[in-house]
Amino acid sequence: MRDNELFRPPQVRPTYTACPTMSTPTACPVCTLENTYRDGALCICPDCGHEWSEDDAADGAAEEGAKVVRDANGQVLVDGDSVILIKDLKVKGSSLVLKKGSKAKSIRLVDGDHDVDCKIDGVSLSLKSEFLKKA
Ligand SMILES: [Zn+2]
Repeated sequence: MRDNELFRPPQVRPTYTACPTMSTPTACPVCTLENTYRDGALCICPDCGHEWSEDDAADGAAEEGAKVVRDANGQVLVDGDSVILIKDLKVKGSSLVLKKGSKAKSIRLVDGDHDVDCKIDGVSLSLKSEFLKKA
């Protein structure tokens, strides 16, 4: 029981900290399990024995994580993709309603709540990626 507590502490602060300090634990880049822990500057995966530098992992996650926008199906969207609306959307400040099934070409990803800039029928719009799917 003691050994179990040491490796999977329920609420007790362990002698090591979860690795690194993002909202979710960093998955092992080799086996993708999340039972990782930190030993000094190293992250260690007890499941496969992989060790890597926490700084590398944190930097990589920050750079890649910031720009990943996913559509309603979880597919990654990138600049230049074409997308289709999966529901009718009212355009704020106008009487325009975008019909489900409308297609937008050459989207541009932006920061913020509405993370996809695009044009539909010649109108520039900012949309939420959760209402889109990759065409
Ligand atoms: Zn691993």
